[in-house]
Amino acid sequence: MHSGCPLNRRELGRASWAFLHTMAAFYPEEATPEKQKEMEEFMWTFASVYPCGYCGDTTWQEMMRHPPQVKTRSEFTQWMCELHNEVNDRLGKEQFDCSKVEERWRTGPPDGSCK
Ligand SMILES: Cc1cc2nc3c(=O)[nH]c(=O)nc-3n(C[C@H](O)[C@H](O)[C@H](O)COP(=O)(O)OP(=O)(O)OC[C@H]3O[C@@H](n4cnc5c(N)ncnc54)[C@H](O)[C@@H]3O)c2cc1C
Repeated sequence: MHSGCPLNRRELGRASWAFLHTMAAFYPEEATPEKQKEMEEFMWTFASVYPCGYCGDTTWQEMMRHPPQVKTRSEFTQWMCELHNEVNDRLGKEQFDCSKVEERWRTGPPDGSCK
C-alpha cells in the first residue's frame, strides 16, 4: 500500500476521502449541538488546510453553496457523498450512487466479502 514516497495528489485524495467517508459513517446517528458545531468547524478547517491549495479552495466554494449537513449521520454521509460527487464531476469521473454509501464505508457488501 505504501511506497515510502511522498503522496501525489491522487494518493492524498484517496486517503483523505477514505478518512472523510469513514468519519461520516461513524458519526452519531443523532448528533448533539456541540458535536454538530465541532464537525461543521472541522469541515471548514479541513478545506482551508487541505495540502492541495486549488482542491481546498474549490471545496470551500462548494461548501459555501452547499454547507455541511451535520444534524444526523444519515444527513452527513449523504452530504459527504454529494461533495465527493461534485469533485468527481469536475474531474470527469463517474458519479457514485449515494444510496450505497453505508455499504461502501461502514458495513461492507452483504456477501461478507469484506469480513
Ligand atoms: C476535498 C477534496 C478535494 C479534491 N479536489 C481535487 C481537485 O480539485 N483536483 C484533483 O485533481 N483532485 C482533487 N481531489 C482528489 C480526487 O478527488 C481523488 O481523490 C483522486 O483523483 C483519486 O481518485 P480515485 O479515482 O482513486 O478515487 P477517489 O475519488 O479518491 O475515491 C476513492 C473511493 O471512494 C469511493 N467513492 C467515489 N465517489 C464517492 C462518493 N461520491 N461518495 C462516497 N464514496 C465515493 C469509491 O469507492 C472510490 O474508489 C480532491 C480530494 C479531496 C479529499
